[in-house]
Formats: sequence, C-alpha cells, structure tokens
Amino acid sequence: MKKSVVLYKKLSAPLMARLHEQAEVTLIESLDESGLAKLREALPAARGLLGASLRLDAKLLDLAPNLEAVASVSVGVDNYDIDYLTQRGILLSNTPDVLTETTADTGFALILATARRVVELANMVRAGNWNQNIGPLHFGSDVHGKTLGIIGMGRIGEALAQRGHFGFGMPVIYHSHSPKPAVEQRFNAEYRSLPDLLQQADFVCLTLPLTAETEGLIGAEEFALMGPETIFINISRGKVVDEPALIEALQQRTIRAAGLDVFVREPLGHDSSLLRLNNVVATPHIGSATHETREAMATCAVDNLLAALAGEKPKNLVNPTAWKH
Ligand code: NAP
Repeated sequence: MKKSVVLYKKLSAPLMARLHEQAEVTLIESLDESGLAKLREALPAARGLLGASLRLDAKLLDLAPNLEAVASVSVGVDNYDIDYLTQRGILLSNTPDVLTETTADTGFALILATARRVVELANMVRAGNWNQNIGPLHFGSDVHGKTLGIIGMGRIGEALAQRGHFGFGMPVIYHSHSPKPAVEQRFNAEYRSLPDLLQQADFVCLTLPLTAETEGLIGAEEFALMGPETIFINISRGKVVDEPALIEALQQRTIRAAGLDVFVREPLGHDSSLLRLNNVVATPHIGSATHETREAMATCAVDNLLAALAGEKPKNLVNPTAWKH
C-alpha cells in the first residue's frame, strides 16, 4: 500500500508525477487559515511531510502519530523542533549545496545594490526626478578592493568569499566557530574575533544559521562597533539580528546602509520602519529563489523523502540520531 504524504509546497509536474507513483499525495496549496485546517486534517494519516516556511512544533507534530519523515525544502532548519522530531524517531532532511551559489549571488546583489544605491537611484529615475547630472549627493561607495567580512564561514559564506576575492579583489575576513585553513588558503582570508570583524569590515555579511546561540547575535553593542561607512548585509535569518537596534543604527546613520533578504517577521509588515529608510535595500527572502535552484531544491527534498519512506537513509539527514536502522 502506498504511504500517505502531505505536501505544503507545490511542486513541478514531473516531481508531482514521481511522488504520485510512490505515495498517496495530499497537497496543501497555501498556508492560509483554510490551508492550515486542511493540513491538520491530513496529519493523522501522514507518514511523510514535505514543504517549507511552516513552524513545525511539537503541538502540530502531535497531530501526526504515524509520521516517519519530514523533508524541508530549505537548508535552514530553524522552523523545526529538531529535539522533538529526534525523540519521536522522525527523520528530518534539508536541501544544502544546491542553493549555495544562488544564495551567494543574492548576497552579492545586495552588496552592489546598497553600495551603489541602485534601488534608490533607479526609483529616482523612474519617478521622473533625474533632472540634472548627478553629483556627490547621489554618489555611492566602491565595492572592489573593500574588506568583505563574513560571519558564518560555511557553504554560503565560502561562495560569497569566492565572489569577493576573485571577482572584486576584496580582502576577506571572517568569523565562525572555528578557523577554516582551507578557506584561508583559497581566498587569502583571515580569521577574526566577532568584535574585530565588526570593526574592520566594510561589508558585514551574515551567513550563519538561526540557532539558540545565534538568535539576537547582532544587537546594539555590535552595531556600535561598526563604522559610519559600514554596510550590513543579512542573507541568513531575520532573528539573528535585533531589528530595532538595526533600525536605530540606520536612522542615526551610525552605519551607512543595509541589504536585507530576511526579517524577524515575514512578510515584512507594512508598518516596518525599514520600509521608510532610503539606505535600506529589502528583498522578500529571495536567497534561493530562481527557477533552476528552487527545482533543484524540490528534487533534493523529494529524493530525501522517498528514500526515508523506503527505509533508506536520506542523503541530507539533519538528525542522524533519529536513524535507527
Ligand atoms: P553551513 O554550511 O552550515 O554554514 C553555517 C556556518 O555558520 C558554519 O560554518 C558555522 O561555523 C557558522 N556558525 C554557526 N553558528 C555560529 C556562531 N554562533 N558563530 C559563528 N559562526 C557560526 O550553512 P549554509 O548552507 O552556508 O547556510 C547558512 C544559513 O543561511 C542557513 O542556515 C539559512 O538560515 C540561511 N539561508 C538563507 C537563505 C535565504 O533565502 N536568504 C537561503 C539559504 C540559506 P562552523 O563551521 O565553524 O561551525
């Protein structure tokens, strides 16, 4: 008998066909109130779950007593109660690697957009306000040759370092749990303590996961260590940053600008002060959002889920201690 699988993310036709061949599929089209009600109804029979952007806590998981595997269509796993999943022996998988380069591209798009004021000045042109040759009031700052500071030297951090070092001749400094000799050799990068990095980098880029340890890592004290020319880039998770402290630093111009792909509350509320600041470039969590990469992520998630439901170890198992075979 086919196992019951609940999707809370729409997949391409070929991937849907693959899943239908091997499982009984329930698709939750959106995570609005009626979608969530449909999800709750489907959970009791579910053996597998696949999706993203939903907080899967113990309360929701308790509605799924037969659950064997959860395949997240993301690399970040901050939406999952991993301890509880592990305790229940439910295999959690994610989609690393396939989104690394695209997310680093997004990071670099934000670096260029903030430094050269691309969005602000393009909006000026669109509004019909380009009335004379621009002068120093509209100048940006250089990217090439400036110091790139990367906090979280993992897959995405490394891909960002590659772009900065080889593409833009930027000295790279970084902070991670531990030094990375291979990265240092490849990109001539140097390890720094967090305070040193914040003081020395022209671009401070966050590429670490949201965990209990990183929540609120960058707050008022950290922004105070940055200089008035520093540009702050966040492509990790919104909650790694104390958002009111960031807003204060941007409003007071104690830092120059911010390029933000992630926020404490997503979608970003219309009342957010970030929307009223010219020195902010805000994108709607588009880190991995290209056709090619999203399809690769979905394929990876389907592979992980089908492997787990077939009793095989998924390639990207997040909680290996849940593996009992
Ligand atoms: P990764 O390879 O696991 O890299 C994360 C790095 O962060 C690791 O090198 C780790 O250092 C470092 N780190 C973790 N906690 C730290 C701490 N407290 N202090 C300093 N460094 C710390 O992960 P990845 O694939 O690069 O992805 C990173 C994150 O990016 C994801 O978790 C996700 O939240 C985010 N992301 C966002 C988007 C988007 O759409 N904006 C897309 C993809 C990913 P060690 O190696 O020394 O332990």
